[in-house]
Amino acid sequence: MEPLRHVKPAVRAVKAYTLAARRAPVKLNQNENPCDLPEAVKQRVLERALMRPWSRYPDFEPRELLSALAAFAGWRPEGVLAGNGSNELIQALLLVTVGPGARVVIPEPTFTLYGLLTSILGGEAVRVPLGPELEYDAGALRRARRESAAGVTIVCSPNNPTGGVVAVEDVERLCADGDGLVVVDEAYHEFSGQSVVPLLARHENLVVLRTFSKAMSLAGLRVGYLLASPALVREINKARLPYNLNFFSQAAALAALEQRRELESVVRRLVAMREEMLQALAAMPGVRPYPSRANFILFELLDRDPKAVFDALFNRGVLVRDVTSYPRLERCLRVSIGSPDENAAFLGGLQAALEAGGGS
Ligand code: PMP
Repeated sequence: MEPLRHVKPAVRAVKAYTLAARRAPVKLNQNENPCDLPEAVKQRVLERALMRPWSRYPDFEPRELLSALAAFAGWRPEGVLAGNGSNELIQALLLVTVGPGARVVIPEPTFTLYGLLTSILGGEAVRVPLGPELEYDAGALRRARRESAAGVTIVCSPNNPTGGVVAVEDVERLCADGDGLVVVDEAYHEFSGQSVVPLLARHENLVVLRTFSKAMSLAGLRVGYLLASPALVREINKARLPYNLNFFSQAAALAALEQRRELESVVRRLVAMREEMLQALAAMPGVRPYPSRANFILFELLDRDPKAVFDALFNRGVLVRDVTSYPRLERCLRVSIGSPDENAAFLGGLQAALEAGGGS
């Protein structure tokens, strides 16, 4: 008996996307928002949920949410899909575009889910390394897309885990250079102050993905959305699971949208703290932070073992992300911007870890 032989070889060959279940008082490993939604807002969502029978399915199309998202993003409601986190929409998008032998251009390093799902679907990831400073190389992306005749090109902007953005003009050039889909994952766009959404009206091969998990303080309720031409959205919608977004999460997303002004001021504070943290890291001998347009910072440890520093921080109650398994990031860790106290705990912990020594 060998039941596993019935699992696709492409699946057996890939490593699972997992995260060690570590807990620490200062949690800076998942790029979450340190600022929760106000209690009163949560209360309103609870009340809305209480008014509704829990025994009934949510609406087949979450119309109210889709039109609120359309107004929020500045796009047409027929061009919006909502999902159980943007992860689910990444899956739906790749399900309808990637089959055996299909090529997907994926920068490297980037968010691992894209490469993982491409492999599981039997597609081929065409990896395009970032430039020497871990910046996007738009020319290399365009060449790889053209040479591989890729049907899909992925660009996370800001990129996770490096923090850099791709220029809007470069996305426009990519879109104009053939009809392959250009997927811009804007999970962190609120922290970058830029978006390619205005290009949607001119480019029917552009897809934008966004999430409520970061700037919108709703990671626990799993809400994401996708923006594209209505024709493309109709096709991607075929792979979305029915009733994917429960009514509780829908109500919470609507409540978060009503809170947009307050959330914007949280984002401004996080961006200011990111700049302060960048300066503090740059001033530490042996630490090289990379500039970031997101709510996290990637930093390289020039003469210390990053895993030892990760452990030293953890022992001081600070959990960051170990990204040493990503290509080219063998010497790097990633830290999310937290509350002022959390950021101070991280910086203090890092200073102490570096002073305690332990070379590479
Ligand atoms: N895209 C990128 C670039 C991300 O970093 C993440 C979260 N780690 C996601 C998408 C997924 O976010 P969610 O499913 O929570 O919306």
